[in-house]
Parts: sequence; structure tokens; C-alpha cells
Amino acid sequence: MRLSRYFLPILKETPKEAEIVSHRLMLRAGMIRQESAGIYAWLPLGYRVLRKIEQIVREEQNRAGAVELLMPTIQSADLWRESGRYDAYGREMLRITDRHERDMLFGPTNEEMITEIFRAYVRSYKDLPLNLYHIQWKFRDEVRPRFGIMRGREFLMKDAYSFDVDKESARHAYNRMFVAYLRTFHRMGLKAIPMRAETGPIGGDMSHEFIILASTGESEVFCHKDILDLPIPGADTDFQADLSPIVSAWTAPYAATDEMHDKAAFDAIAEDRRVTARGIEVGHIFYFGTKYSEPMKANVTLSDGTETPVHMGSYGVGVSRLLGALIEAHHDDDGIIWPTSVAPFHVGLVNLKTGDAATDAACEDLYAQLENAGVEVLYDDEDTRAGAKFATMDLIGLPWQLVVGPRGLKDGIVELKNRSSGERVSLSPQEAVNRLV
Ligand code: ATP
Ligand code: MG
Ligand code: MG
Ligand code: MG
Repeated sequence: MRLSRYFLPILKETPKEAEIVSHRLMLRAGMIRQESAGIYAWLPLGYRVLRKIEQIVREEQNRAGAVELLMPTIQSADLWRESGRYDAYGREMLRITDRHERDMLFGPTNEEMITEIFRAYVRSYKDLPLNLYHIQWKFRDEVRPRFGIMRGREFLMKDAYSFDVDKESARHAYNRMFVAYLRTFHRMGLKAIPMRAETGPIGGDMSHEFIILASTGESEVFCHKDILDLPIPGADTDFQADLSPIVSAWTAPYAATDEMHDKAAFDAIAEDRRVTARGIEVGHIFYFGTKYSEPMKANVTLSDGTETPVHMGSYGVGVSRLLGALIEAHHDDDGIIWPTSVAPFHVGLVNLKTGDAATDAACEDLYAQLENAGVEVLYDDEDTRAGAKFATMDLIGLPWQLVVGPRGLKDGIVELKNRSSGERVSLSPQEAVNRLV
């Protein structure tokens, strides 16, 4: 991508409405634009990151055996009347009336709809286990939308729903998502800690929030230091196998959100191993049994011919919120520092003297070589000051900056800067390409 043809509306001033660093940096780097309170347009740079995050989430869901579909954003109120949640959900639900005076709503979540789809087709235990997910926009009319896309009203969520014959197999489904989440957040360069969370009336131990520690987080959380250093399950994890050893290892050290906090248990931990922090909820997994299948009559026939309401769980990831969480975790005074796996581009190619024939030619050659090798390059081919170019590159946080100027070229060298370490090396253009592909 050539910067001269791209749309990257960088802000020089720090927007004063933004209270936290991720929101400020997203606005300054031209990633999002607020259209209404808590409702954002995704500008090209922000949209690229959103898609990268979404793709990692998708790959790990697929690896864990979940199956992707896509449900609509607009739902019928009747579905929610069946589950009893139409009235219970309250004012976070955006209610809409169509031209025929039918009550509709913009989905805040999809338990009802997926249960409706399930019951329309699945009758037998033989079709289970099943896990269906989608990645779709949700709307929740939050009382206090804030922190940019971290607490938006319209936001992108991955929500998966598992269906099993009984609680024991539902536990396997739960464990698969648990492990998938460990891998998902790790691949993005985030340390997300599964913490015991409220289960509501069902009780039990099958609800975890995945939390990123950050001073700007909205929840207060407590954990044992040990959990911060546990190994992440590899890509070769067998999701057909029993995953409970992994889940047990991750649930053994103390880790709980505010609502589930057990002060006595926490105080029993050696003082220097106790972590009290603030956290951002980026995912939430939950077993809720027959809460929806019972009222909505989503039953399956068992091998002995009897019928049972299907056991369900739901598993959410805040895809758009993750952008904010990522920036909270990866930035410095100059801007964002994207982990490679989610970076909007891999390399920023900086032409220090556009119009200079040798520099232009060298840049064009590097650009072509990198693009042909499948490396995503943002080529700053604009005629602006070097200082402004460097500031923009640091702000948007691409992992590598490849700087090309007439002076270096005379000696046959270009400069490669690592955004994260700040390390710069001088090397030949060919060496630079070799390092980047
Ligand atoms: P919160 O406690 O932050 O309000 P929640 O518990 O209401 O979130 P869930 O119903 O568990 O949210 O939804 C699954 C995921 O969707 C959350 O873990 C979070 O990452 C994301 N999410 C929820 N609400 C928002 C929002 N208003 N803006 C952005 N992401 C959100
Ligand atoms: Mg909420
Ligand atoms: Mg919550
Ligand atoms: Mg939650």
C-alpha cells in the first residue's frame, strides 16, 4: 500500500475526549472515528487490525472444533419472549419496531437465536457434540459507553454456543473453549488470565472471564503470581483428547474477579505471590445447562429413546475490545507497538527523499520485492519531512521500519528499525529484504 493513495487521517493534536491511552492512540493514528456515542466507523488502519484479530479468533475456534455460521444482527422479540428474557434484559437492549408494528431488536447476544436454529434441525444425541459460532456485530445500549471501542454500544463479538447431551460432555465442550482461548489471546501477544466468574443460578465452577491485567481495566481482580507463568498449550493440542489436565493446571492457582473473590483463600497465599490488579474482560466462557433449551424446547433423543433438553454453554470474545486491550498492553510514549500477528502492516517503508531518482528507484524495488514475497508493506512515498514520517511510523506502530535515503544509498545501505526494541541496523537493501521475508 502506498501512503499517497491510502487513507490514514493522522491527528496532530491529542483528542481531549479520550481518557485512556488506547483510545487516544486509536484516534491519533486514524483507526476509528466516533459516529455517535459508543458507535464507531472503522477507518482503514483500524479495520485491518480488527480483521487480523478476528482471523486469529476464527482459526482457534476452528481448531477446537467449532463451526462457523452467521446469524443476523436484527432479531425478533418473539424469540426472546420464549426464553423470558425480552422483559428481563432491560434497557441495554435496543428495541426496534418495523413497519408492520412488529417488535424487533438489535441482538446483544444470540442464545435464543442459536437455540431456535438448533431445535429446528437437531433431534438426536448422534448429532452431538456440536459447537456453532459466529463473529457478528452486537448492540448493547450501555449506560456509559467509554474508552472508545473498549466499551462501545455497537461492538464486534465472537460468540460460540455448545450443545451436549449432559453436563459431563458439556464440560468437555467447555474445556475445548478454555484451551482455545488460552491459545487465541497468546497468539495476539496478550496474557489473558482465566478467572473464576459468576455462574448465576446454575452455580458450579464453569464460568471464567479471560482478563488482561491493565491499570485502566474496569474490573478489580485477584490472582496468584504462578498463573502468570503457566505454559500455553501448543498448536498440536489434540482437542479430541481429555483437556482437563490443562484446565486443572490453569484453574489450580487462585484467580478470581471481584464478584467471586474469596478473601480468606487469597490471604492464605504468600504475600509476595499475591497479585491485586485491574483487568479488562476480553472473553467470557459459561456453562448454563438447560436455561434456554428447557423453555424453548430444544430437546434431543438419547440412545435409550428418552428425550432431554440439550445442555448448552456460551463462549464470547470481545473482538473489537481486543484492539483497545492490545494497545493498552503494547505502547510507549511515541505510539502503538503492534505484536506482529495483529499488525496492520508488517513493514513501514520510509522514503526520505521522494523525487530523488536513486531513492525512489531503491524504494520501488524494495516495495516490489517485499510485496511479491507476501510481506504487507505501507510505503511512505509522500513528500513530507523526515521527522513527520518517523513520528507517524512510531505512532502507527508497525513492527519494522525500513528507512531509505540518498546518503545511505551512496554507501549501499538502508536502515532497518525494530519498533519494539528501538534497535536500528544498517545493511544492504538485499539483506533487509532477506530479514523481512
Ligand atoms: P462487561 O462486563 O465488560 O460489560 P459483559 O460481561 O457484559 O462485559 P459478555 O456478555 O460476557 O460481556 O460478552 C462477551 C464479551 O464481549 C466480553 O467478555 C467483552 O470482551 C465483550 N464486550 C461486552 N460488552 C462490550 C462492549 N460494550 N463493548 C465492547 N466489548 C464488549
Ligand atoms: Mg456488560
Ligand atoms: Mg462482565
Ligand atoms: Mg461477561
